[in-house]
Amino acid sequence: MIDTNLKNYGSDVFSEKEIRRCLPKNVASKLLATMRESKPLDPTIADAVAEGMKNWALEKGATHFPHWFQPLTGGTAEKHDAFLEPSGPAQAVNKFSGKNLIGGETDASSFPSGGLRSTFEARGYTAWDPTSPAFIKRHENGATLCIPTAFCSFNGETLDMKTPLLRSIQAVSRAVERMMKMFGQKRAHVEVTLGAEQEYFLIDRKYYLSRPDLLQTGRTVFGAAPPKHQQLEDHYFGAIKPRILKFMTEVENRLWQLGIPAKTRHNEVAPAQFELAPMFEDLNLAVDHNMMIMEVLRQTAESNEMVCLLHEKPFDGINGSGKHCNWSISYGGRNLLTPGENPRENAIFITLLLAVIRAIEMHADILRMATAGAGNDHRLGANEAPPAVISVFLGDDLNEVLHQIESGSGKSEAKRGQKLRIGVDTLPALPRDMTDRNRTSPFTFTGNKFEFRAPGSSQNCAQSQMVLNTIVAESIDALCDKLEKAKGPFNEKLQKLLQYEVKAHKRVIFSGDGYSDSWMKESAKRGLPNLKDTVSALAPLKDERNVELFEKYGVLSRSEMMSRWEIGMEDYQRRIRIEAGIALEIARSMVRPVVADEFSKLATALGQAKSDGLKSGIRGLTALSLKLGAGLDDLHIKCDALERTLTREEDAASQLKAMNDLRKTVDKLEGLVDDSRWPLPKYREILFVH
Ligand code: ADP
Ligand code: MG
Repeated sequence: MIDTNLKNYGSDVFSEKEIRRCLPKNVASKLLATMRESKPLDPTIADAVAEGMKNWALEKGATHFPHWFQPLTGGTAEKHDAFLEPSGPAQAVNKFSGKNLIGGETDASSFPSGGLRSTFEARGYTAWDPTSPAFIKRHENGATLCIPTAFCSFNGETLDMKTPLLRSIQAVSRAVERMMKMFGQKRAHVEVTLGAEQEYFLIDRKYYLSRPDLLQTGRTVFGAAPPKHQQLEDHYFGAIKPRILKFMTEVENRLWQLGIPAKTRHNEVAPAQFELAPMFEDLNLAVDHNMMIMEVLRQTAESNEMVCLLHEKPFDGINGSGKHCNWSISYGGRNLLTPGENPRENAIFITLLLAVIRAIEMHADILRMATAGAGNDHRLGANEAPPAVISVFLGDDLNEVLHQIESGSGKSEAKRGQKLRIGVDTLPALPRDMTDRNRTSPFTFTGNKFEFRAPGSSQNCAQSQMVLNTIVAESIDALCDKLEKAKGPFNEKLQKLLQYEVKAHKRVIFSGDGYSDSWMKESAKRGLPNLKDTVSALAPLKDERNVELFEKYGVLSRSEMMSRWEIGMEDYQRRIRIEAGIALEIARSMVRPVVADEFSKLATALGQAKSDGLKSGIRGLTALSLKLGAGLDDLHIKCDALERTLTREEDAASQLKAMNDLRKTVDKLEGLVDDSRWPLPKYREILFVH
């Protein structure tokens, strides 16, 4: 069943090979040109493409053709239509037209729109994205033909993640083309690339089913850390247990059929935590693939009697899960973030590098926005994940290079390093694969790409990539503008410009420990934003400077930015309310009865012991009943306090605080009450029993 010789790799994808096999020659070449070069699709071929695609899908056993899209819920959505069309009394045939392929109309009223769509105009429209190939989803009774689409409202405003992502790819591609032209390079295809490392937890289904908090929210709202969790550091890269390996192999097998290049698998830092990383791909495709990876992980866990938790922080006190987004740009197939072989290539490398640094320094707030969310709030800034302050890590070698560029003026600082002449000198040898990665930095240069480590494990990477592309496009354009205006030979102009840019933006570069308190102080002194929670992290969407930027690049309009703010806020408040609601229910209806019962048994035993005049045991019984009694009182008080905060619908901050207060009490009681009667599976079981 496992495809060891990779014969079935990509077998469920309407790939180039299948396109050539199933479509007339001229239709196939037009479609492939659209896919490869993002050329507009020739509408006259739509019917022929649809016919070929349908025949291919029928061979695969498909009955339906959902348009597959990524609404602003953060997940994916699909509306299924059958190929079936009645052709006479009690007769039907399979049909699929170009119209069915290119566009769809759905009722959008139940998808978040943040005020973009009034209820009387509830229609939403899906539009085929030919740059991401159609694929087959399978289930026990057959299959469906999934068509990746964008999703928008009646007025053409985006209601999804894909549309702005595609716009941002266009924006940054244009900027790179402009830059390369200035460097005298021939026109070539720009490709933005993404490799998204997916972290996740895997637990046995039986524990999941006995934890209403996990069932309802994806995280445990109670649970004391066990004596042993991750402190022995014995899980990271440890031997993978057979049950997990069976799961991973099944996941990979399915992903390979879907043409998803799953490559790396390993145990992560926390017990029961793992990682899957595919090879990097074209950004738009890599985003779609990551969405599919999450789905396959969930489904395969289920068929293995396990549950895959993609929440950023399912368990308190141990590491949470992120989704490291490795990003780069290539030009005519050459990665521009690879230090080059000659001075010209190096000049391009350094210019792009500085454009990125400038982008992060100037727009850290909106990049941080892209990682906002109730789940990720538990992770960013906690002592395990990158801080909420966005800084850039470059490593010693590149720091030295920047220092040389900066000291080019020959002023006081020059004595530390020599001057590097951009476009004339070659760079000092930079290690191709830098091993001294700074795990505490949110945005790190890792030899030939930047790794953004702040996004959460459940988040759609389109969000952060869309922002990154846009701010880098702006930055490249700004550098090009300055170069165009400056006078003199190109290399000299560039040298001066880069020297200026290093000086102007170097405050965002940080090489030390991002988890340390001293960095919190230092970053504040440097004036870097520290947007600690979702509410403050969403605010940059309403900042006029950001609105102008995103409008200028045609990535998001003003109303689209506002709608994203509204949706983000609403999602945050709803999630916290659900968490608070389930915490209250568990505390009152599961924990309290057990504690009360144990307390009353103790009290009876104590009374009995006293009346029997026993000499021993009274002290122990008294101490325990005092503790349990105090816990019971506390439970009562804190449940009531939490309940009161729930009457204030939008007061997520108070709800969170009351929930954390209640958690302290419940977690303390967990260590006091008879283990056999504790109503929830404990961390030491959930995390260690596989
Ligand atoms: P680590 O965990 O050490 O960061 P991994 O090997 O797990 O490294 O992941 C690195 C990711 O970066 C992979 O998905 C890899 O394909 C991706 N990557 C490598 N080169 C590029 C590139 N040029 N653009 C985007 N991603 C890249
Ligand atoms: Mg990584």
